[in-house]
Amino acid sequence: MSDQLVIDSLEFAHNNQSLQGSISIGNLERLHSYLAHTSGELAYLISGMLDGDDKPILEISINGDIDLICQRCLKKMQYTLNIKTRLILAQSEHELSRYDDDIFVEAIYASNELDALALIEDEIILSLPISPRHQDTNCHLSSKDKIHSTIDKEHPFAALASLKQTH
Ligand SMILES: [Zn+2]
Repeated sequence: MSDQLVIDSLEFAHNNQSLQGSISIGNLERLHSYLAHTSGELAYLISGMLDGDDKPILEISINGDIDLICQRCLKKMQYTLNIKTRLILAQSEHELSRYDDDIFVEAIYASNELDALALIEDEIILSLPISPRHQDTNCHLSSKDKIHSTIDKEHPFAALASLKQTH
């Protein structure tokens, strides 16, 4: 049922290997709590290579549409994934910890049994907005239901009313 994508990451990079295909969102279980539903597929491409400094890297692209949950109206919200990221394969814990200090570089440990599916899932989760919301005009809360406008409208009058009572 679940796809398995295990690569020897260093060999993959040194041989300029690449792997592409589609994964069903249903198999990305850690992603499910962010989603309105778990149907559909995402396209991925993982390419191994050496960068300009001969460091082994993986380039990962992930594309497709998912339905997140709008944090304002709790209805589904279509979101397009267009991820392109580059990961350095660190060959020791020491090297990995060096990259931790660099915000411009993302690195992972160069496992010879790298779970590429888990890696794809990690990258998707990292890319998601913290609090997804529809644009105002697309949100399913109608204007009269909007909590903010209700507060904005009623609060000044409530304040005024309480002022009148005290004087
Ligand atoms: Zn909404």
